[in-house]
Amino acid sequence: MDGKTVMACIDAAHASLKAHADEIASLDQAIGDGDHIVNLLRGMDALTAMRAAIEAEAFAPALKLAATKVLSTVGGSSGPLFFSMLTGMAKASSDEAGVAPFARAFAAGVEAVGQRGKTGAGSKTMMDVLIPVAERFSAMAATGASGKDVLEELPRVAEASMLTTRDMLATKGRASFLGERSRGHIDPGARSSQLMIAAVCSRLAQDDA
Ligand code: ADP
Ligand code: MG
Repeated sequence: MDGKTVMACIDAAHASLKAHADEIASLDQAIGDGDHIVNLLRGMDALTAMRAAIEAEAFAPALKLAATKVLSTVGGSSGPLFFSMLTGMAKASSDEAGVAPFARAFAAGVEAVGQRGKTGAGSKTMMDVLIPVAERFSAMAATGASGKDVLEELPRVAEASMLTTRDMLATKGRASFLGERSRGHIDPGARSSQLMIAAVCSRLAQDDA
């Protein structure tokens, strides 16, 4: 994987977020302040504008470059969290190709988000998607699963996990101010993370085929 692959994944995530922009806006209007999709698309537009620079880099520096831009453009709570995801992955990435090194890098990214946001699973945030996906990814890597199998399975885990946030009580972030009224709505950050994971897996599966 290199900067070109990173940019192809960004393009795929960007397209999916755009296609679901109204839905994500409604979710954040219900339990947040409504800006989540605007924040994310601002970041995606900024990443698109630096395509050549990202594509010219190797994998880890491309992630770091993208992370810095995300931090300076996305804002909200999610900007620093996605920055941590990308830099956490970059730091843990190795030159080795394959499922296991990538699973380790993804897990490190999720751990960095947990440290930055000071939360784990069960608080009704993006972590409720990221943690189960990282766990399944590591478990599959440990049993020697193929890239193809991983890329098919992770979107399923992400979707099922995203749906579990609907009935959760929010205890982190803006949604926690609503208390019990936060129940009954899917967390916008869980939905955006799930969509990005699905888009990236489907893009990488094209290369893998
Ligand atoms: P803000 O809430 O500041 O307006 P955004 O709208 O950009 O920020 O992002 C909201 C999303 O950020 C939430 O839906 C949730 O998934 C995620 N989030 C908020 N706080 C945390 C946290 N401490 N840890 C992990 N994710 C969080
Ligand atoms: Mg918001």
